[in-house]
Amino acid sequence: MSLPEVVAHLRALEQEAGRGPGSAKLVAVTKGQDLESIERHVLAHGQFPLGEGRAQELRDKAAERPDWDWHYIGPLQRNKIKYLRPVTLVHAIEVTWQAEAIAEAAEKWGHAPDLLLQLHNGEEQKHGIPVDELADTLKAVRETGLTVRGLMVMAPDFGDDLEQSETESRILRLFTETARRAHDLGLGELSMGMSGDYPLAVRAGATLVRVGRRLFQ
Ligand SMILES: *Cc1c(COP(=O)(O)O)cnc(C)c1O
Repeated sequence: MSLPEVVAHLRALEQEAGRGPGSAKLVAVTKGQDLESIERHVLAHGQFPLGEGRAQELRDKAAERPDWDWHYIGPLQRNKIKYLRPVTLVHAIEVTWQAEAIAEAAEKWGHAPDLLLQLHNGEEQKHGIPVDELADTLKAVRETGLTVRGLMVMAPDFGDDLEQSETESRILRLFTETARRAHDLGLGELSMGMSGDYPLAVRAGATLVRVGRRLFQ
């Protein structure tokens, strides 16, 4: 699929879900893609935020193209926070110290990115804030003075263990639950959905879908 096809698909999915056109925005995930490929496959079709998942790669690309809109969607390590200077939105805050470190660096930068909190997906142990810690983490992160705009979640990889329909219903449930939690907390942005599951994410109310592979095939 090309980017215009993905965007047309998003518009159709929004309509099916009774949502306004453009309410589910594309974040073009560009990790592993060089600048020329990003220009050809993404920016030739319009302005889109670009999602990078590795801090050094982000630093190197953004140094070459400081005027592009960079998002950071990957995990955050303390010694890599300094590379986030060009970023306008950080999608995956998992613990309060990450926001504190960004706030501290932002003092030096003279500008700060907005944040999303990554919710644990209930299946894999590795990433995300457990549901019962979400409200406290939100409060603590807000004390840094940075703006929290919403939640992010990643569907688990169920592999081939489940029937397709069961996998889809579990992912839809996760996305719907995440949307409900964001709504309860008064948070407007929902970063959900990747190449394989963005239709479910749009149905559940995603405002930012992070699509990579599908744009570059
Ligand atoms: C790579 C990545 C994506 C995009 O995945 P695709 O399958 O290439 O669409 C989305 N979100 C995160 C956090 C990623 O690391």
